[in-house]
Amino acid sequence: MGTTMNDMTPRFCADLIRENGRVVALTGAGISTAAGIPDFRGPQGLYVTRQYDAEKVFDINAFLRDPGPFYEFSRDFLAKVESLEPTFTHRFLTELEELDLLLCVVTQNIDFLHQKAGSKGVLSVHGDYWTSHCLACGLEIGFELLCLKVRSEAIPLCDACGGLIKPDVVFFGEAVKSMSEAAEAVNEAGLLLVLGSSLTVYPSASLPQHARCPVVVVNRGDVGLEQGPNRYFVDADLDEFFGEVSEIMGEVEDF
Ligand SMILES: [Zn+2]
Repeated sequence: MGTTMNDMTPRFCADLIRENGRVVALTGAGISTAAGIPDFRGPQGLYVTRQYDAEKVFDINAFLRDPGPFYEFSRDFLAKVESLEPTFTHRFLTELEELDLLLCVVTQNIDFLHQKAGSKGVLSVHGDYWTSHCLACGLEIGFELLCLKVRSEAIPLCDACGGLIKPDVVFFGEAVKSMSEAAEAVNEAGLLLVLGSSLTVYPSASLPQHARCPVVVVNRGDVGLEQGPNRYFVDADLDEFFGEVSEIMGEVEDF
């Protein structure tokens, strides 16, 4: 379980990023809460506040029987996400990528704020709304068109064949995506940053257990990872912590 902030200072973290490079960031709901997206499972979560029943909304069999509840949720969710900006920490990871210090981002989030921040190497293990597919003919639909359809059609249907469209979000009863690529990235990582995830949603929660590099967990509250050598736990606000890390890294020329 997480301990105190003394484990890892922003300066130590900046040193690890600079010296080790090949950063892999595993991100969860906590990185997006500052952007205005409620934690799905937290006390302010959409599931709780808007009476959405996750079991029904994200169940693939329920969706195939009646996609209405999912699209009702999506209408609200997309309207919210469209207006949001990535957080400082999202942009910090983009900057690390541009500096060749980051291998990839592995995210559990479906809000695609990493893509919006400009990150290129993003593995969305729970999928996201960035692309959708027609379940009948396989036609791919981009985000803009999906948003248009979600606004104008109760149940978005394929323009080519009239089939049902499903965003590439991973539903209960579906396999997660990109797990082997994610595991490979963690295997090659020089530093694993776990950001805003309590590491309770499997299988991505198991990734840090296989890391051979230092693991730095920055999360509010308890984390489902045992203490161990080369594991550091920070219970802090992500944007504040990485604001300091970024400032320290900026002190050194061409970091
Ligand atoms: Zn189609």
